[in-house]
Amino acid sequence: MAVWSRILLAGSALALLAACGPKDTPPPPEEKGFAAVDTARIETASAGAEWLTYGGTYDEQRHSSLDAVNKDNVDQLGVAWTFDLATNRGVEVTPIVVDGVMFVTSAWSVVYALDAKTGELLWEHDPDVDRAVGVNACCDVVNRGVAVYDGKIYVGVIDGRLQALDAKTGDLVWEKVTVDQSKPYTITGAPRVVNGKVLIGNGGAELGVRGYISAYDAETGDKIWRFYTVPNPQKQPDGEASDAAFEQVGNATWGDEGAWVTDGGGGTVWDSIVYDEVNDQIIFGVGNGSPWNRTFRDPSGGDNLFLSSIVAVDADTGEYKWHFQTTPGDNWDYTATQTIILADLPLGPDGASRRVAMQAPKNGFFYVIDAATGEFISGDAFGPMNWATGLDENGRPIEIAAARYGKEPYQQLPGPLGAHNWHPMAYNPDLALAYIPAQEIPQAYAEDPLFFSKDTAWNTGADFAAGVPPIAPPEVAKFLRSTLKGRLIAWDPVARAPRWTVEHDNAWNGGVLSTAGGLVFQGKLNGHFVAYDAATGDVLWDYNVKSGAGAGPGTYMIDGEQYVTIATGWGSAFALAAGFAYDDKVPSTVGKVVTFKLGGTGEIADADLTPIDRTPKAEPFGTDAQLAEGVVDFSRNCAVCHGPLAVSSGVLPDLRWSAISADPEAWKGIVLEGHYSANGMVSFAEYLSEDDVEAIRAYVLAQAHAATAAEDGGE
Ligand code: CA
Repeated sequence: MAVWSRILLAGSALALLAACGPKDTPPPPEEKGFAAVDTARIETASAGAEWLTYGGTYDEQRHSSLDAVNKDNVDQLGVAWTFDLATNRGVEVTPIVVDGVMFVTSAWSVVYALDAKTGELLWEHDPDVDRAVGVNACCDVVNRGVAVYDGKIYVGVIDGRLQALDAKTGDLVWEKVTVDQSKPYTITGAPRVVNGKVLIGNGGAELGVRGYISAYDAETGDKIWRFYTVPNPQKQPDGEASDAAFEQVGNATWGDEGAWVTDGGGGTVWDSIVYDEVNDQIIFGVGNGSPWNRTFRDPSGGDNLFLSSIVAVDADTGEYKWHFQTTPGDNWDYTATQTIILADLPLGPDGASRRVAMQAPKNGFFYVIDAATGEFISGDAFGPMNWATGLDENGRPIEIAAARYGKEPYQQLPGPLGAHNWHPMAYNPDLALAYIPAQEIPQAYAEDPLFFSKDTAWNTGADFAAGVPPIAPPEVAKFLRSTLKGRLIAWDPVARAPRWTVEHDNAWNGGVLSTAGGLVFQGKLNGHFVAYDAATGDVLWDYNVKSGAGAGPGTYMIDGEQYVTIATGWGSAFALAAGFAYDDKVPSTVGKVVTFKLGGTGEIADADLTPIDRTPKAEPFGTDAQLAEGVVDFSRNCAVCHGPLAVSSGVLPDLRWSAISADPEAWKGIVLEGHYSANGMVSFAEYLSEDDVEAIRAYVLAQAHAATAAEDGGE
């Protein structure tokens, strides 16, 4: 109780302070009650003293009106406090700050409430997820955050549940299962709450599901509406809000046959959901097709609405209003789930203000579309690409024919990890600049010859083993590393060009925060958290947070002091699936919330790491045929979590150095009998035979010996 009285006092002081200043006037907590956020309070907030919703405000610009930390003093930022998130898996949360309390999530959908001034733990809620569901998570068991509304905290759980918690205690108020849990659905995204409705989507399109977004009653958890993004296999009404949209525009874009009929078609709504209060509508981003390869998904070759689209629906009923499809007939995992930002730009007649939605999806174009109608205004490549030469007058990509890949691999930019992935983009309305965490991660796409004969969990129709030699020398990993690039682009959406660009030495850098202090904050893959001059891109401050710094930063003010915060952690899709990118430089360590203030004197503890014994644990073995089988089976079943070429970044075990690789029976026990399923490594007996498993062991040991032979040779 002592903790709570202090928090409420802090809240009162904050309210007094805010009442005197021009920045922000949240209703006094003592009048409304703790965390008594409603739609009106979020609508009038300016992402100033508080950070009430995932993107800062309903427009999700991630731009704070605070300027106490600014260009002149940002070099004095030091650590105010840190808090351990008790996980060595990926952390992608943007903290919510309300009434002096910070709400953050960690891996496995655990929620923490912290004193935002001190980092002291107030409560913790663990939804006790069965670790075996981790195998359904394409991109690590991450969570991007909570929503707060009317004294409750809402969190999407990785196993498909939606939970409402008491904001003061963390006690469960209600819980709904939002998915068919027999299918590989996951939830990683943050809910949003609008007019008493909790909005939540899901993920799973890599493994075969049918996507949708749902609205639940914030008070009771009753489902109010659901909008599917892919028709049902019979193209019949579902009795849901999306029925009319499929009748009007959707059904005709799908054939009657193909893998979508059995696999669900994909189109998951796993991240961006924004409330456009001016037009009283929800605008959300839709993910890729399932399977990726349209030749298998829908041989009729249609556009496949609403895959890879931005869709607007009525906020009360979920009824369809408009859509804009960024990638018709998706073939490459080009999701349109990336950050959607709403803003007013001088793009109307005679320079009049026009309300727009902006997005930089995976496909590499920066789009500006009319928020009221979905009309295409402009779209421009923000990085190199070789799948399209541009967009036509309606915004439809002008494709390069070879990008519709066949059996011959086509080395393509962007690849499935996108020219921009989930890392939140920000927008500074004063400078009219969008800040894109952009990247180059090429991928060789080829049609999978085994799509019908090897029905693995990841059966995308694209051949992950294409071009991978049975024994890959370390030079292959080094070559792959050399193809990776990242940059922070300050994009002018009116001039349709970058105003400045900062080059990073690696891909997969962090989300962005913009502030009225003239600053842009972004973390980098190498663990550095950096502040740039928002107008020029000059580096003003650079701090080593000693872990992954991918999450969206936040900022808030308490007792007249501005805090800047970022949740750090090791993991996420790239750390699992691109171990070769990590250079052994950034330590795998426990995730933390790291919060800074001017003059902060705290420190971030060094990771206590036990060095891995990087030696093969058995002699190499296996025929050429066995090794060839091993690379195919490894690439299809293991690489997404343990890394292509069997090179891991250390989130999950690097199998090359595993003692179990020396013991064929123990190896089989894990892969076929699920001996480690409590840790998330479930049985693959559905997909692999005993011979396959032994071939994988042969491949892993071959990779181990290839790596150490190169080191012994002085390489
Ligand atoms: Ca995907």
